[in-house]
Amino acid sequence: MQNFDFDLFVIGGGSGGVRAARMSAQRGARVALAEVAAMGGTCVNVGCIPKKLYSYAAHFAESFEESHGFGWVGDAPKLDWEVLKANRAREISRLNGIYVQLLDAAGVKLIKGWARLINGHTVEVDGQTFTAKNILISTGGTPTVPAIAGSEHAVTSDHMFDLSPFPKRLLVVGGGYIACEFASIFNGLGAQVTQVHRSGKLLRGFDEDVRDFIASEMGKTGVELQLHTEIAAITKTAGGLQVAVKGGGASLLVDTVLFATGRVPHASGIGLEAVGVAVNAVGAIQVNEQYQTSVASIYALGDVTARVQLTPVALGEAMVVVDQLFGPAAGKKPRHMSYEFIPTAVFTHPNIGTVGYPEADAREKFGKVSVYRSEFKALKHTLSGSTERTLMKLVVEDATDCVVGLHMVGPDAGEIVQGFAVAMKAGATKAVFDSTIGIHPTAAEEFVTMREPVKA
Ligand code: NDP
Repeated sequence: MQNFDFDLFVIGGGSGGVRAARMSAQRGARVALAEVAAMGGTCVNVGCIPKKLYSYAAHFAESFEESHGFGWVGDAPKLDWEVLKANRAREISRLNGIYVQLLDAAGVKLIKGWARLINGHTVEVDGQTFTAKNILISTGGTPTVPAIAGSEHAVTSDHMFDLSPFPKRLLVVGGGYIACEFASIFNGLGAQVTQVHRSGKLLRGFDEDVRDFIASEMGKTGVELQLHTEIAAITKTAGGLQVAVKGGGASLLVDTVLFATGRVPHASGIGLEAVGVAVNAVGAIQVNEQYQTSVASIYALGDVTARVQLTPVALGEAMVVVDQLFGPAAGKKPRHMSYEFIPTAVFTHPNIGTVGYPEADAREKFGKVSVYRSEFKALKHTLSGSTERTLMKLVVEDATDCVVGLHMVGPDAGEIVQGFAVAMKAGATKAVFDSTIGIHPTAAEEFVTMREPVKA
């Protein structure tokens, strides 16, 4: 039998790669992990974590405004962008360090540099070669920008956290997660935000009611939304970036243009072709249910496989790979990954939280469904002066009474929906929801008090 330097060589130190490396080492495997940049990948460095920190920062704006209705007097404080950036950078460095410590403590050998596959068991990093029984590719994804004249003047989400100076006028291009989140966040932080989207509604794939509702709520907060709008060219002028719109619409003058037009797998330059690892039409590594690529000793997970691009999904996939390669944790069964009922949140202002099927998809899959829908002004806003409204919606399969879709637009929607996702994974029926006692007074109690279905 061939002797390998390692049992597992992980390429990419993002959420999925770090989890797989650490857990494999804890099961006694000899593991190496190569990462060229800061540890933690997109989520820690330019994604979920800094985005959520900036979302918190942005929410203060509405809190200051709403506080007057509760008797607080005085002018609202002003944002010091440099302080926010510095504090965020300090926290992200701390997290980078924690990731390194955790891997060190687990006995994972960290290799700094760009890794490239040589064959199914060999990886080269800056001239040094390493052999491994198995290799895991977890190189993540990267933003993609449409080919538009002047696109070099625009930025992607990677650059938004360190913009200098703060953009007084921001144009966001796109209607997905990243576009909507950054539009909300920079609007809250004080920028004048215009969001242009090529389609007629934001957030393709979400429930139609949610899509309509969030557009209306974001509009109320001050984001100027231009639908059915595509940009044609960006020109740098003395007064800012002049953005021409296709079809002769009025051009826009802004300080920063953010392209939030999707992300692509980060799969080039790592030797996939040379080794014969198959990729699909969009460049995503193809894997089977065990996350094995077309080369049996090479596995891949997370955004580089372009299935569901969410950190917790990559973490779940990593555990499946670890269990399969090194056995499950003592006393546990090997894990499997289900892509049904994955809860997700969009950190717009207000938040979106969702789990299960949008109404239209549920009708297609289950046939007859009943829909429960509630729209209301939260108790807080009886004094805050805010016109914000909350939407909650349940989709129930008639044949089984199972709740198959749960959708919310409103404060803390992500926090609320996480708990309901457990119930839905457990197959909770509408009758179970109905028999659950509400917590009063909360917004979340509405999910267990909706009695009358919407008329079909
Ligand atoms: P999405 O795929 O969600 O959205 C891309 C958007 O860009 C769509 O609105 C799309 O329009 C539009 N678009 C695509 N190409 C063009 C083009 N050439 N010109 C104009 N518009 C274009 O990608 P994101 O980059 O927003 O996010 C990537 C993924 O990252 C998400 O799908 C999600 O999985 C993950 N993510 C999760 C977050 C969370 O959990 N909170 C936060 C951020 C990201 P159309 O709909 O018409 O195709």
